[in-house]
Amino acid sequence: MRLRFRSFLLSGALLAVSSFAAASPGPLLPAAGLPAVPQPEPLRVRFYDPYRLLSPEAHDWLEKEVVRAFGASEVGLTFVGRGGPGVIPATLYPELPDRWDVAPEAIGVAIGVHGGPRSIFLSLGAAERALGLPLARRQNSSAKVKPRSRRLPGSQSRRLGIALGRVLAHELVHTIAPECPHTRHGLMAERLSRRMLTAPGIGFDALATRHLRHAAAGMAAPETG
Ligand SMILES: [Zn+2]
Repeated sequence: MRLRFRSFLLSGALLAVSSFAAASPGPLLPAAGLPAVPQPEPLRVRFYDPYRLLSPEAHDWLEKEVVRAFGASEVGLTFVGRGGPGVIPATLYPELPDRWDVAPEAIGVAIGVHGGPRSIFLSLGAAERALGLPLARRQNSSAKVKPRSRRLPGSQSRRLGIALGRVLAHELVHTIAPECPHTRHGLMAERLSRRMLTAPGIGFDALATRHLRHAAAGMAAPETG
């Protein structure tokens, strides 16, 4: 099977973004007399950290940031403790495998966007380099040495968790709404600066939010064959 990748590239340069406001549309109120719209099931994501790379704090920030980004677009998402049908797996690697033809600055890739099993992979090394974290310098470490958990100060754990959460949120949109293009602003931008990865209040822009809601509503529709 041919795997298709969509890489999430990162530029060291700041983007010329004029507005960082997160999409915060008003509540959707059903019109009187209309049947209630079926409430979509929340997206379910399972985060795997098989190398135990993240501290519990960073892991917590990661999940909170993904839930926050989707919640701001009024799309429900929940992290689950077990994989299974319909659950999207996201796995953290020390580095993405060399055999994958992705740019070294790619922090995340989504696989199965256009068919096949869906999966997301994140690179801790690329995220650390993007944030300029000191523990990114691991060039001399042998691949056989089991990477140790990040022992970062609290503020750096928070930045790392939020940045990885934003990359995961970006890749989740590719996964569930593959027709959503990269946007000029917000989390679906093709390249995110360090600021976009960590500054408060960064969310999906209006276009990505529309795609996301459309996809989430479609997932709630009963299967008709
Ligand atoms: Zn992308």
